[in-house]
Amino acid sequence: MRVEGIENVRRILCVFPRYTSSFGTFEYAYPLTAGVQAFMPPQGLLLIAAYLPERWPVRFIDENIRAATSEDFEWAEAVLVSGMHIQRQQMNDICRRAHAHDLAVAIGGPSVSACPDYYPAFDYLHVGELGDATNELIARLARDPSRPGQQVVLKTSDRLDMTRFPIPAYELAEIPRYFLGSIQYSSGCPYQCEFCDIPGLYGRNPRLKTPQQITAELDKLLECGIMGSVYFVDDNFIGNRKAALDLLPHLVEWQKKTGYVLRFSCEATLNIAKRPEILAGMREAYFCTIFCGIETPDPVALKAMHKDHNMMVPIMEAIETLNGFGMEVVSGIILGLDTDKPETGQHLLEFIEASQIPLLTINLLQALPGTPLWDRLKRENRLIEDEGRDSNVDFRLPYEDVVTTWRACMGSAYQPAKLLERYEYQISHAYKNRLQPPRSPQQSSWKNIKLGLTMLRNIFWKVGVLGDYRIEFWKFALRRLARGEIEYLIASILVAHHLIMFARDASGGHTNASYYSLKLQQASVPAE
Ligand code: SF4
Repeated sequence: MRVEGIENVRRILCVFPRYTSSFGTFEYAYPLTAGVQAFMPPQGLLLIAAYLPERWPVRFIDENIRAATSEDFEWAEAVLVSGMHIQRQQMNDICRRAHAHDLAVAIGGPSVSACPDYYPAFDYLHVGELGDATNELIARLARDPSRPGQQVVLKTSDRLDMTRFPIPAYELAEIPRYFLGSIQYSSGCPYQCEFCDIPGLYGRNPRLKTPQQITAELDKLLECGIMGSVYFVDDNFIGNRKAALDLLPHLVEWQKKTGYVLRFSCEATLNIAKRPEILAGMREAYFCTIFCGIETPDPVALKAMHKDHNMMVPIMEAIETLNGFGMEVVSGIILGLDTDKPETGQHLLEFIEASQIPLLTINLLQALPGTPLWDRLKRENRLIEDEGRDSNVDFRLPYEDVVTTWRACMGSAYQPAKLLERYEYQISHAYKNRLQPPRSPQQSSWKNIKLGLTMLRNIFWKVGVLGDYRIEFWKFALRRLARGEIEYLIASILVAHHLIMFARDASGGHTNASYYSLKLQQASVPAE
């Protein structure tokens, strides 16, 4: 649904800020693709764009693709911005540029909802999810779009039921320019891991859309040109296990109807390994990748961070189970925990070797406002506000030792030979267990073949000829070519190349050791 009953018409510019380079931005992969320029379409801003009154003209700009111009600001009567903590500086910069055109600017999304204090210059702060605060913001802009005399803070107390959410305005985004498609089925997570702000922001009782909303969104994503993979951005896909089970048959049916043109991926807790009925449904629906916050292989550390649910099944056994259903596991890892020892880095490398997980997002612990970790460290006087540091946590181990361990782990885990060996393992131990859907007309289309050939040409030239790890590359690539595994070759190398290049930046000290760090945030992914 859209908001209704608004007479005045306003032109709204929605601007999504640039990302700082990280594991998950994949920008080193983009030159190997056929025109990808950004990671995922932003759900929140596209949702608000779809919720605005029907007659309001809306322009959406993702600054990871192109920067908002003076002409955009001159066209608009008000500006909406949304983003995460990592985009804080870029959001404040958008605000500054909008104010140069004397435009009112409103900010919403997870960062301002957790930390309104980060955004003193904005005219409107939208704190919380879509709901009564959104209606109030729209009503105020309809009455008078000029800048208010002082900052107005609007807090959602009555959230819009997710079953009434409109389909995000994917048509405003250049969907084929994104590395992955995105979709959201649920919001919230029942667990309370000490470092995580999700339960505080979105609640412990997951809220849900209907399966019919999801299949309608998938239809729209297809209409807008999505190809490849769609990521369920839900905080925990099995936050409500019954809901996951309800959705899966609809996804399977949709895949059968459309010819399995998309692969799915999601985030879920590792105890999903105890649910073979869910995993079997996911395999049928063609889920190929699953992000699990493993965080650490150390059981003492898991207990200390209240992530005992990671130990419901022994970690290695859980990973093998997921591989057995055809899914590659992606893992979040945290260094700098209170339980870390000088040998933690070595243990992590041993875990990577044993698990054969190719992609692990290794970050330093960061205390986010509104989390139990923040409260504890505040009590212990261990929060450090210093923008020159990679973390705001006063670690138990010396800070330099923790950062050195992080750099060493990055440098070792992402050596090309080791990483490509892990992909080799995935192909023979996980991918072979995937559903093998019949080739759809779309996959056999000339457009798709041309896309694949363009990526192959880019990969062969930029990695196989110009790349400095071409020997390891060709060892891996020739095996794929000999076995006709072209899709595996493209998919693995796109991600591997990003990881190898990003890890080199990291181990050389040219990038942040924490996803949330404020340090070096000017070094953003460039808008091309
Ligand atoms: S399981 Fe994941 S989403 Fe849920 S509280 Fe823990 S870290 Fe956050």
